This record gives sequence, C-alpha cells and structure tokens, in this order.
Amino acid sequence: MSNLTNYSDEIFKCIRCGACRAVCPTFGEELDEIAVARGRMALIEAVTGGELALTDAFEKAVFDCAMCGACKAGCPSGVDVPAVIEAARAELVEKKRSEGLIRFLARKSLRDKKSLDRAFSLMALGRAAYGPLAATPLAKYLPYQYEDFKRNFPKIPRKPLSKRIPPVSRVRNAKGTVLFYAGCVINYVYPEIGVAAVKVLNHAGYDVVFAKEEPCCGKPLLSLGETGVFRSVAEKNVSLLSGVEADFIVSACPTCSLTLRDDYPTILTETASDKAAAISAKVRDINEFLLHETDFIARLDAAEMIITYHDPCHLAHGMGVKKEPRELLDAATLGGLVEMREASRCCGFGGSFSFLNYELSGRIANRKVRNIINTGVPAVVTACPGCMMHIGDALRQSGSDAVAFHTLQIFEKAIKR
Ligand code: SF4
Ligand code: SF4
Repeated sequence: MSNLTNYSDEIFKCIRCGACRAVCPTFGEELDEIAVARGRMALIEAVTGGELALTDAFEKAVFDCAMCGACKAGCPSGVDVPAVIEAARAELVEKKRSEGLIRFLARKSLRDKKSLDRAFSLMALGRAAYGPLAATPLAKYLPYQYEDFKRNFPKIPRKPLSKRIPPVSRVRNAKGTVLFYAGCVINYVYPEIGVAAVKVLNHAGYDVVFAKEEPCCGKPLLSLGETGVFRSVAEKNVSLLSGVEADFIVSACPTCSLTLRDDYPTILTETASDKAAAISAKVRDINEFLLHETDFIARLDAAEMIITYHDPCHLAHGMGVKKEPRELLDAATLGGLVEMREASRCCGFGGSFSFLNYELSGRIANRKVRNIINTGVPAVVTACPGCMMHIGDALRQSGSDAVAFHTLQIFEKAIKR
C-alpha cells in the first residue's frame, strides 16, 4: 500500500465541521468545497479507500492548496492538513508523475549548493530579459503575464549574501553565538535582508556565523511531492549545521525555520534523527529570538515610520509567532503599528503555489492588498522574504504607492547609533 494510507488516522480525525472554510484562502476565492481542507480531506479519504482514482480533478484539488496551514491552526480536531496534502502530492508524483516540469526544475536546481548557484545565475539572466520583454507585445508569450495579473519579478543581484558577509561577524563581549540560516530567497534575491540580519544580531550582542555552503532547506521539494530528494537535502543540511558551534540557529525566513524545526526530525527518523532533533531544539525565528533571548527591544531608537503588519503563514500558523514581530515593530517605529483586517490571512505566495497557480495566488493577493490600502499607511511589513516579494508585486500591480518591507529592514533603521 502507498505511504498515503499511513495518514488514514489523520484524515479520519476530520469531523467535517467546516470551520476551515472561514480561514482557507483558496476557498475564499473559489467558493468550492474541493478548494477547502474539508473537501480535500474527503477526496483523499476516498482515494485511500479505493473509491476514487487519481483523477485530474483530484490532482487539481491537491495541488491548488496554498499549504498555508490556517486550517490546521484553527482545526478543532487538530488535523495536520498540510502533512496529508504533502503525502497526497507524493502519491500523485509516484503514481501519476504530476507536475513533471516544475519538479524536474526543482530537483535539478535545489539538490545541492552548486546546482543552486547555477540555477540563480540562470534566473538572473532570465530576469534581466523578462523585464524588458514584459513591456513589449511579446509579453503575451511570457509565463505569468495574464490579462489581469502581470507578474513583477525582483531583480536578482550579482552578489549573493554569501559573497557579502564574512563567515563570522563578531562583537565585543558577545553573549553567545548565533548561526544565521539565510535560505535561498534572502541569499540570492534579497541579500540586503541578510546583511541587516547580521547587523541586528550583532547589535543584540551576538556573534553571527554564516555557513556559506548552506543549501536550500528543501521545503519546495517536499511541497512538490519530491520526498526522496527532500530527504537527501535535509541530510546535507543536518550534516552541515551540526558541524557548526552555535547556541541558536536563527532564520529570517519562516519556511526555513519551520522546515528545520519540524520537518527534519519527522523525515530523518532513521538516518540522522539525533542530530536533526538537536538542530530542531536550537531553531528560532529571528523575531522570536530577538524578543525572548535578547534585550534588543530596549536597544531600539524608533524610526519615523507608520506601518501595518502581515503575518506570514509559516510563522503565525506554523510556529505560533504573532506577538513578537508586532512588539518589536511597535518599539521600532514612531508612528507605530496599525493593524490591517485579516492580517494573518495568506497573501497567496505559498512558495511553489504561486508558480503553479499564479492566477489564483494573484486573486488571494488582491484581497491582502485591499486590506493594506484600507489602513491608509504607506508601508506594509512582514517577516518573510517570500511574502514581501509577493505582496510587493501585488501592490505594484494595484497601482498603490505602498511599499513592502521585511521586519529586519525596519529594525536596521531603528538601531541606535
Ligand atoms: S476544521 Fe478540521 S475537522 Fe473541521 S472540516 Fe476543517 S479539517 Fe475537518
Ligand atoms: S493549507 Fe491553507 S489553502 Fe490548504 S486547505 Fe488549509 S487553509 Fe486551505
């Protein structure tokens, strides 16, 4: 029998109450039972029970999930919906070869550091051509250029974070050592966020170590059902990270933090379970770390700004970190934090979700943009580089002048000189 049948008990926990309908971003747009956790669980149960084949409609229902985890966080029965969906995707990959092209690209580019470097160099070239072409009639031949949604990709800088910061950044009388885990988006797309992270962590009194050979955390592979390659990437990370002396492992990408903390110990049960558990215990989101492990909040000199805050799904629903970025942002800005409606509702990014389903992810993002614009403030801050990219894209498409920032960019402005 398939691995999916191992999740029968999890699926059976669903009592069909429908509470997930209120929080599910895909249901909010599609208003269709197969676009919500309850419907997806029912379909997967039918497949495991042999009543439903791996049809195209089933495949769509499973791959149209944004994997935001809002359903799991609010589920009265505690159904781990994202884990069941990941298992269903792995089943579809094994038996139906689903999403072949994107999986091929993910396998080739995310399996190790060398492949990652090569992939982002190629992406930089592709991005350089994409922008000018998107402004010509040839735009209709480009991917992600729909009538209503014309995607803006950020420029990929020539120098990634690994070429901008030293392996160790020390401070006098350090209170301890932090290993900063950048993740692909910060390393290759927004290295300035990584530079800010080092400054902020040093300012909080910690030496910062950066493992330049850091590979991808592997989450996109897991989300695409590539469980085998994910396991091998997890092993590489565990081997690299357990060789570094550090009190904490801190990331400014909630997807990386969640993957290192929760997925590695689950998937590496045989090969490296002790090391994965030791790493998991040290992992913190950077906002969580700054508020609970340091006196950073007392070292802030509030900057002249008024902002609103968007909760990244993997941080709020996955790690339960909501108040920490808010407290820090409130202290870091003179105008303070203005709450938007539905701050913890998904922005539609969802990693590979926005590449597979850009039109649906764009509609989800438009709801977020309306909520941002309704606050009347000029800046939205979030704690995830992926959300920042996606919200920035949607804001630009809406014609709004509001700008998206990462929390670290605000903290960097508010460091006392
Ligand atoms: S909230 Fe949980 S138990 Fe209720 S329908 Fe959704 S997944 Fe099932
Ligand atoms: S993970 Fe998010 S998108 Fe998927 S079913 Fe749950 S709430 Fe809906």
